[in-house]
This record gives sequence, structure tokens and C-alpha cells, in this order.
Amino acid sequence: MTATQERVTALREQLVAWRRHLHMHPEVGFAEVQTSQYIFDELNKMPGLTVTRPTKTSVLAVLKGGKPGRTVLLRADIDALPITEENDFEFKSQNEGVMHACGHDGHTAILLGTARMLSEQAQDVPGEIRMIFQHAEEFGPGGAEELVMDTPLMDGVDVVTGLHLNSQLPAGMVAVKPGAFMASPDMIELTIQGKGGHGAHPEETVDPIAVGAQVVTNLQHIVSRNISALDSLVVTIAKFQAGTTHNVIPDSAELMGTVRTFSPELREQAPKLIERVIKGVCDAHGASYNLRYEFGYRPLINTDWVADILRDVALAEVGPEHFQVSKPTMGGEDFSAYLEKAPGAYFNVGSGSDTSDSRWPHHHPRFTIDEQSLETGVHMMHAAALKLADPATTVPQQG
Ligand SMILES: [Zn+2]
Ligand SMILES: [Zn+2]
Repeated sequence: MTATQERVTALREQLVAWRRHLHMHPEVGFAEVQTSQYIFDELNKMPGLTVTRPTKTSVLAVLKGGKPGRTVLLRADIDALPITEENDFEFKSQNEGVMHACGHDGHTAILLGTARMLSEQAQDVPGEIRMIFQHAEEFGPGGAEELVMDTPLMDGVDVVTGLHLNSQLPAGMVAVKPGAFMASPDMIELTIQGKGGHGAHPEETVDPIAVGAQVVTNLQHIVSRNISALDSLVVTIAKFQAGTTHNVIPDSAELMGTVRTFSPELREQAPKLIERVIKGVCDAHGASYNLRYEFGYRPLINTDWVADILRDVALAEVGPEHFQVSKPTMGGEDFSAYLEKAPGAYFNVGSGSDTSDSRWPHHHPRFTIDEQSLETGVHMMHAAALKLADPATTVPQQG
């Protein structure tokens, strides 16, 4: 066992205690009042940290190391979801209708553990380590955007990293991927305005259901006919509501959907392509429409050299048998906001195991984590912080 591993193992009970406290007291985005107070109080018990509140419900801990080096930002998200927990363990949610069903309780415990480890060795730490406990990841426009745009958090940051636990990856595993990692989750809201009437006399109406059905079908032609097969685009219409009964053609139909891609260029193109189809189909059949297109988080594109360093850290710290190159996912993440300002990479730590019944998907009312993943997370974050801050770690010249 390495010296680092021994220190992480010694933290085990504390990590579990932090995580279970947070799990019992979940709060949704922008309302993390007690959560952020708890984090603030725990960080203030650690020597050498400067702890502040950049926004109402986020917390920042800054450690100035004893040696020269880079400024590194480590990020954990702290918010929960509006889900009623169906787990039955003694630390299940005490807040009815709110649940840590994405693992952010674990992320917070991992960053608290990392802060503790670094604060105990401040003299040996190179550079400056900023640890941001970010509010509101789950709801757009997201807490990251607020921190990046409205606070000086990113001023002088050389590189940023963060992790997400992943229940579909075995506990103890670390997965990193250079380049495109997570998609942009954009949203469309469409009203098709027809002309209602008797179901027996469609010729006197403009049937918004018939038009809407063609819109849904034709939108898929964008994916299959307008976009290169080598690019990735998802257009999903997930809501289609119209009508009241069997013999009345309704006046209008309401549709909602999500548009996802890794490519910033494709993301720019998508609204035009989508509106062209909607307009064309509606015009052809005499309907009109109202389209609202809302951009969500940017695609999360990892900086290659940072991902390479994280891979090297994983190979050295958890070993090749616990490392894999992760697959990209069409899910979204507001970690991408930090990457607008500094190079960085986001990675996954496995949290699923059969023994702890923790293979449920994220956002499921039975979601939980194998708590062994907390130790893997601290080990990775601690080692990554030191490696990225170390001026001896060579990075490609930027320009
Ligand atoms: Zn989530
Ligand atoms: Zn999450």
C-alpha cells in the first residue's frame, strides 16, 4: 500500500460520515442552504484553508501551497434532485421529495476528503489549489455558469478538473477520455397552430396532430440525411400533447424535445435545420407554428493533455487494472462552463457494485453508491491536484 493509499484509508470512516450526512439532508439547486453551511463548517475545521462563499449556496476553499506551482481548480457539485427516495437504509433522505440520486453527496465528500489531505501537507503542496463546492448542477442555466461569469473564481486558474461517480462503472474503476466527452443538452418547445373542427370533416380543418406527426418523422431526416454519419446528433421529441376526445380535431399541438451533440459547429447549425423542417411541413399543410429553442450547457470537451495527465495519474495511483478509456455520453454537464476559461478534463469514478446494490441508474429513486468509490475519488483528486499543480509536470505550450 502506498503512503497516499494509507492516508486515504485512514479517512474512510470520515468520508462515509460526510456522505451519509449529506445524503440524509438533500437540497435542490440554488436552495443548498444547510448543505453549504455544513460544507463551510467542515472546511473551517481544516487548517490552512481560506473558506469563502462566492454565491449564496456555493463554498470555495483555497489552499496556498508552500512551493511554487500552478493554480488548479477542483470542482464538486453539491445539489440533489426532486425525487422521492425509495431506498430504505438508515441514512435515507429526511427531506420528503428530495434525494441525492446522482451521487453529488459522494462528490462533496470526496472533495472534503481531498481538502483535508491537502491541508495536512500544505507545506509540500505546489501552487494554489482552489476547491469549489458548486451549487445547482442539475438545473439550467446551472451554478457553474454563475460562478464563472459573476465571480472571480476562474481568474488565474491554469487548469481545472472534477469527477462524476458512475453507477454503470464498477466501483474502484477510473475512466478518462480526451476530447468530446459529454453532449450539449439543448431544448425545443414547439406549438403547431392548426384549425380545429369536427372529426368527421377534416377538410374544414387544419389538423395539428397530422402535421405534428409529420414534423416528428421529418426531424429524423436531419439526423439521417443532413448530418455526416461520423458526427453525433440526437433529436428526440419526448412530449406530444393534443386533443381532448375522439371526434374533435384540436386547434393546436404542443411538442417538446431535446437536441444533443458534441460538436459546437453542429450545435450552431441544428436550430436552422430544425426550423427549416418545421416551417416546411407547416407551410405545406397550412399550419403555423411557434418555436422556442433553448440552449443548455455547452458540450463538455476535455483538453487532451489534461486527460492524458489524469490517465497517467490513474495508471500510477489505482493501477492499469482499474483504468479504462471512457466512452462519450449524450448526457450534459455544466462542468463545461469552466472549460470555456481554462484547460481541463472531467473524469468518471465507478460507484456500482452488486454487493452494495448500487447499479441503479443515476436519477433513479433507488440510486446509491458503493462507498468504496469515495476512497478511489479522494485518491484520484488528491494525486491529480498535486500532479497538475507541479511545475515539473510538463504541459504543451498554449497559444
Ligand atoms: Zn444528475
Ligand atoms: Zn450529476
